[in-house]
Amino acid sequence: MAVGKKKRAAQILDLLQQEFPNAGTMLEFGDTFQLLVAVILSAQSTDVQVNRVTGQLFSRYKTARDFAEADLEELEEAIRGVGLYRTKASNIQKMAHILLEKYQGQVPDDFDELMKLPGIGRKTANVMMSVGFGQPGLGVDTHVHRVSNRLGLVEEKTPDKTELALKAIIPRRRWSQAHHLLIFHGRKTCTARKPKCPACVINHLCDKRL
Ligand code: SF4
Repeated sequence: MAVGKKKRAAQILDLLQQEFPNAGTMLEFGDTFQLLVAVILSAQSTDVQVNRVTGQLFSRYKTARDFAEADLEELEEAIRGVGLYRTKASNIQKMAHILLEKYQGQVPDDFDELMKLPGIGRKTANVMMSVGFGQPGLGVDTHVHRVSNRLGLVEEKTPDKTELALKAIIPRRRWSQAHHLLIFHGRKTCTARKPKCPACVINHLCDKRL
């Protein structure tokens, strides 16, 4: 079964790669610290919303020290355009303090160290490893979770379990690519409501096609 899924996953990624040759992050950032802030802000918000906020945010606060020393209420106000902005402002500020104390203000390129930071879950840590540090990482957001379960590549209830199941059938060298391709496919075709199955380039490989 796993061999069948591995082969199907490879075929799916090949076809999606043809459809989305430039799939990659849509977030705008200047360095790995700003990427980390942007990824934290992206939880339950679209990349468009995040970019709208970070344009001004990063012109005012650029480094971990800037965020650590910011007035919390002003920071909240600056990211008000994204969901859960109060919690995110608090987590970003705590995270900035920890980076200053433990890592000279730099973001650690280590999955387990990233996971210890406030507000960082497996998705964010994976995105940081792949987009920020060019290492294998397969972040599972709502799109990746929904699409890979509909396809029948995995049968999992939570994004974290989906991540581990996908990693078992996709080679490490394609983890980052899979993350971006499944997001692009989920945004354009396999949307949460009314997936466009007749127009889907991988519908012959899908368990749930409508
Ligand atoms: S066939 Fe439909 S459900 Fe399956 S991946 Fe394509 S859009 Fe999604």
